[in-house]
Formats: sequence, structure tokens, C-alpha cells
Amino acid sequence: MLVRLMYASRAADSVDQDELLSILKQSKAGNATSGITGVLCFSGGIFLQVLEGGRMQVNALYNRIAADKRHRDVVLLSYEEIGERRFAGWSMGQVNLSRLNPALLLKYSETAVLDPYAVSGQVSMALFEELVATASIVGQG
Ligand code: FAD
Repeated sequence: MLVRLMYASRAADSVDQDELLSILKQSKAGNATSGITGVLCFSGGIFLQVLEGGRMQVNALYNRIAADKRHRDVVLLSYEEIGERRFAGWSMGQVNLSRLNPALLLKYSETAVLDPYAVSGQVSMALFEELVATASIVGQG
């Protein structure tokens, strides 16, 4: 049974580029052993992450992530049972925001700022899918 989960959170003050790389490294290592795939987006102090995999594994990971002190205000945006993965190629990919067109954010929100707290989970998922399609994903495997 595969599921896909998306959440948003606000980074702790300590999260800089090095900390982000450390989270990505830790995620890739952990996910590779539990069959989890997904993509992490970080912009303006906000994380948006999609996790895919077995229901037990994804739920257990989400509970661990929600307790992580490196972020706060963790909010579940979307949870669904799925027939196939969308991000099978990445144990944890990162959206390359340097290639992000601000018009894409404006398409879905009031300002050109990534703010999943201000829109519905459905809108965040639609935006996320376009980000993945247009901004390219950094990090193999
Ligand atoms: P342990 O390594 O035993 O750590 C114990 C506690 O310390 C946990 O509460 C942990 O959250 C915290 N912790 C661990 N490392 C650090 C650190 N360097 N600095 C501060 N606190 C720390 N993990 C994955 O496996 N896959 C993911 O996709 C994933 N995505 C994440 C996304 C975000 C935005 C964040 C903030 C974390 C993510 N993590 C991910 C890390 C996850 O929260 C856990 O730290 C990790 O899974 C290890 O869990 P553990 O119980 O083995 O913790």
C-alpha cells in the first residue's frame, strides 16, 4: 500500500544552507533504507516536502519529522493512497529554486512568495507539481 503525504513547516532560526544540506543528506540516507522517495522545497524559511512510500514507513517518518526541532508549525497539507509514485527517482530531491519563475507563484497565490499556510492543500500540491516540472530537481538518487 503506497501513500503520498505533503506537509509544510517553518524553519528554525538555525537553518542555513549548511543545515539544509545536512537535512538532505540525512534524508537521502534514511529514505534509501526505508523505500521512501520524495522532494523537499525550501524557500523564505518555509519547507514544503512530499514523501511517498509504504503507509507504515511514511507515517513513522512523518511523526519523526514533526518532532524535529529544526522546524516548527508542521502542518499536514495532503495525504492520499496512491497507485504509483511520482517521485520514484529521488530518495530526497531538492527543488532548484534558482530556476523558479515568480510568475508560477503568482499563478497560485496573492504574492510571489511561497506560503503554503495561506492556500489550500490542493493548491499547494498543484504548485508543487509545477515546481517539480519547471524548476528541475537537484540531487540524484
Ligand atoms: P536521531 O538521529 O536519533 O535524533 C534524535 C533527535 O534529534 C530527533 O528528534 C531528531 O529529529 C533530532 N536531530 C537529528 N539530527 C539532528 C541535527 N543534525 N540537528 C538537530 N536535531 C537533530 N529524515 C529522513 O529520514 N527522511 C526525510 O525525508 C527527512 N526529511 C526531513 C525534512 C525536514 C524539513 C527536517 C527538519 C528533517 C527531516 N528529516 C528526514 C530528519 C528527521 O526529522 C530525523 O531527524 C531523522 O529521520 C532521524 O530520526 P531519528 O529518530 O533516527 O533521530
